[in-house]
Amino acid sequence: MLCLRFCIFTTVTDTRRVGTNAPTLHADTVNRFEWTSKAADGTPAGSFTDTTQASTTWTAPQTPGTYTLTCKVDDAPDTIPEAERAGSTRDDPAIEVSVTVHVVEVQFREDTNQKYGFDASYPAVPWKSIEVGQTDTAIADINPVAAAPGVHFMSPYWSSMLVSPWRAAGSPQTVSVTGPLTAGDTDYVEANGGQLGNPTLATMLVAVYAKRALRVNVVLVNEDSDTINGEDVDKAAIETYLKKAFGQAVCEWTRIDKEATPLRVNFDRNPEDGKFDATTTLGLNDEKLAVIRAYHELNRPFYDKIVFLMAKPNYVNLGGVADMGREYAFIFADNIKPSGIDPAQAVAHEIGHCLGLEHTGGGVNAYGANNGAPVDEDNLMHPTVGNERWRLRKNQWDKLHPTTPTP
Ligand SMILES: [Zn+2]
Repeated sequence: MLCLRFCIFTTVTDTRRVGTNAPTLHADTVNRFEWTSKAADGTPAGSFTDTTQASTTWTAPQTPGTYTLTCKVDDAPDTIPEAERAGSTRDDPAIEVSVTVHVVEVQFREDTNQKYGFDASYPAVPWKSIEVGQTDTAIADINPVAAAPGVHFMSPYWSSMLVSPWRAAGSPQTVSVTGPLTAGDTDYVEANGGQLGNPTLATMLVAVYAKRALRVNVVLVNEDSDTINGEDVDKAAIETYLKKAFGQAVCEWTRIDKEATPLRVNFDRNPEDGKFDATTTLGLNDEKLAVIRAYHELNRPFYDKIVFLMAKPNYVNLGGVADMGREYAFIFADNIKPSGIDPAQAVAHEIGHCLGLEHTGGGVNAYGANNGAPVDEDNLMHPTVGNERWRLRKNQWDKLHPTTPTP
């Protein structure tokens, strides 16, 4: 009788790792083997180190999918006992044994319902931001979907960071992460085959921050209306933009106010030209100081940042100006009008400067790569205005949480 003991050791395999995670297959006790593998459409897929031996290794194809590996086994014909039929042989039919192998690709991406941030500048290893002790979500796409029950989510820092679910129920799968109680930790969530690193299907780094509370006051200067594109710069729009942009970096606006009446101040002094001196020269000047002093005479409670909304500076294309790391930003409504861009974006951008954020790409007006990442078109700190520029990346989250106080 043909006797077969057949086992196939396989693992779910990341497409980026198929070369190094090739399953080892083994069949024994019989003496003729024929290994084959095929994709769902029946075409041959992957390759064996040897298709005729008891042991072989299968190297998976680069395309995620479900594959069938088959071993056909046959023994040598037996000699039929003399008493039954002298000189003849008999042969048992061959047996085929198959196993299904999922070649899996997992990709973490942003959950549009997230509370904090997600930085996909480097899609292979994205960053998630999270507040100390709080929970947020990301999405894992699993391909093929049939492999989802074999995909697990875990963190090596399991004692401090909770990840759920432990096993995917389908794809897309919402993955929830609860941050540890210590700020400054860098943690990660791994999608894998059930054990850390065995194999790692996808990694999502997690940056943990203590919440930074911020307060801002928006002050209209000299103009009775701050009309831009036919509408006043709406407080609710500013609030929405600030929360969306800085929430990514675990900053919370505990107070967003807008003065009910304009600040009246004659700032025109040096030069006396009827225009506010905003020049690209950063730092304070006599005219900025005149506005700041007039504001302080209002004796308002403490705000981290003050945004002055003005009609027009002496500089034609300037939408706003702020000194790096300082309290005050100046926004020029008349210069933003033609762009059609939400002026709340200009407010959030200038506050970004006040909070120490530079333009993406380096210099004051530099344009392009952000720390080696692709051109960051939707970054809040892009040097020019444009639609939907609100994202902040991991290096910017870090800047908003300085480890040492700014002097
Ligand atoms: Zn800027």
